Amino acid sequence: MNVALVSVGDELLSGDTVNTNAAWLGERLTERGASVERVTVVPDRVADIARIVNEHAAEYDAVIVTGGLGPTHDDLTMEAVAAAVGQSLERSEPVLEWLRENGGYTRSDLTEGTTDLPAGSRPLHNSVGVAPGCVVENIYVLPGVPTEMRAMFESIAEAFDGDPKYVESVTLDEPESALVDRLWELQAQFDVKVGSYPGENVRVKIESTDRAAVEEAAEWLRENGVIAETGQ
Ligand code: ATP
Ligand code: MG
Repeated sequence: MNVALVSVGDELLSGDTVNTNAAWLGERLTERGASVERVTVVPDRVADIARIVNEHAAEYDAVIVTGGLGPTHDDLTMEAVAAAVGQSLERSEPVLEWLRENGGYTRSDLTEGTTDLPAGSRPLHNSVGVAPGCVVENIYVLPGVPTEMRAMFESIAEAFDGDPKYVESVTLDEPESALVDRLWELQAQFDVKVGSYPGENVRVKIESTDRAAVEEAAEWLRENGVIAETGQ
């Protein structure tokens, strides 16, 4: 399953906030066997959010949008997602009911717009904060606040799956430039995906849905490389 992530917020583009939501989702989705194919960061602008969500929804199996929920002036995600799927925004009675039962809120406690969702969407309740998320078509809309986003993702995690991938890392004490031929050979001979991540040493990440191929490839690389002292 191919997934695209859309992170909404001017503060992510200006560098005021680090996009930890995308990193966390990338890890959780990969763990579940889903493949994250895109991370796009967009400003708090309805037209930009709507265009990217619309394009990604057509291109990928699922889109996860985070941030810009709630009723403040810069919270435009629901309006944009509604536009992307050609729906209007509607006040969600089930959300109001849930907030009444679980948070003791009444309609007059909630700022206008708090419970507005795209018509025809399924609400996702916010067990940590207030603003609800939703699912509409293949688009999942989650809050920006990391604790809220994580809790809401866990409530829909089962929608994301794929063939489990096996991974082994081998850390080599050689310059990356010296490894070029061996990395090509590794990829060709064992039919695995190979990532090369230089730092103090070079970490080579070997990945495939075929566990035996990963083990054989890692073994071959260990036999044909200089293993770093801290490496495996
Ligand atoms: P609220 O309902 O509280 O307004 P929200 O869903 O609208 O939440 P935002 O307004 O977009 O979320 O962001 C709220 C805060 O969450 C930001 O100030 C920032 O600290 C954090 N946040 C938002 N997006 C991200 C992200 N991608 N990675 C990490 N933190 C984020
Ligand atoms: Mg907000």
